[in-house]
Parts: sequence; structure tokens; C-alpha cells
Amino acid sequence: MSNAIIVVCLLLSGVVSFADVNMDAPIDVYIEHSDPNHEQIILNAMKYWEKHRSVSFNIVENVYDADIVVRWTDDINGKGEFGGRGGYVIEDTSRKEIVLEYFDNGLKWWLYGKRTLKTVAIHEFGHALGLQDTNKLGDVMNPKSIRIPSKTTLKIIEFLLPTLSFFMLVFIVRHYLSYLRAKRERYELERFMKE
Ligand SMILES: [Zn+2]
Repeated sequence: MSNAIIVVCLLLSGVVSFADVNMDAPIDVYIEHSDPNHEQIILNAMKYWEKHRSVSFNIVENVYDADIVVRWTDDINGKGEFGGRGGYVIEDTSRKEIVLEYFDNGLKWWLYGKRTLKTVAIHEFGHALGLQDTNKLGDVMNPKSIRIPSKTTLKIIEFLLPTLSFFMLVFIVRHYLSYLRAKRERYELERFMKE
């Protein structure tokens, strides 16, 4: 019997239930180490819930002590909640695992944006705290309120931006050179007039 079937059987029999985070005690969170920028955004997302719900979080260094685990993936493989992107939550019998899409500090990260990661993280933390998706306009738990550029859009912009930057640079250099030439011509003309 596969593990999944065993878990389903145990759940049906009531022996095991999915971990429900105890909201009264501080919630232990383990954040997988990555870029400090990314980690700071997660801390900000947690602050959002501390402000809007009476919960408090405690960062732990050992994954086995955690009620909620935050993990990163650079290949979310269409599993994200937002058009296959962004993030999702894995319900485990012992803890909840938030998986978030990770970009390194390159152009893609800049395009994806800290703001997007923060709203995605707030949304996924909401699920980890037991909230469901809503369709309320502007609500953090409304998955439609989060827009993530598609992989194709990111690829096109990533290709276009350096090309455009190159042409801009050529344009600026050409203008600067013609400015220098005009300046020299004026200087020579003035000198000629004085003579
Ligand atoms: Zn959701």
C-alpha cells in the first residue's frame, strides 16, 4: 500500500488529522536560508499577520521544531496558485509547508518584484493559518488579486531590456560625441574671430 493511501485511511479513521496550527501559542516558523532580501520579505509578510490577526511567530533554526516551514523553489513546475506561479502550501500531518517561487538577484527577480513575493507570501501564510481563498475584491486571500508576469513575458522582457539598453547607450554616446564636436567647432570659431 502506498504512503498516500495509508495517510488517507488514517485520516478517514480519525487516527491522524492534518496539523492545525495552534494560534494561541507563538507559531514556530522555519525559513529555508536563501538571499537575505528574500528572507526579509517573508519576515514582513509574517508581520502583516501579526498585525491583522492575534498571532505571533517565532523563528526556529531547526526544521523539525517548526509548525510552518517556508521553502524556496526555482522551478515551481506549474504548481503555484497564481496561474501556476508564485507559491502553494503543502498540508502535512506534522507541519504546513509553504513553497515559494525563487529568483536569484538577476533581472527576473527585479521583474517578479519584491511586492509580488510579499503578497504571495502573505496569501500562503494565510492558508497556513487556516484561511481559505476568497473572491472579495482586494482581499489578500483572493488569488485573483495577485498578478504574476507569465514565463513568456519574463523571457521577452529579459531579452528586450538588454537590447534596448544597448541601443540607448549607443544613442547617448553618439549624442555626447556630437556635443563634443560642436563645442570644439565653436571654440575654434571663437579663436578664429579673435585673431
Ligand atoms: Zn490561495
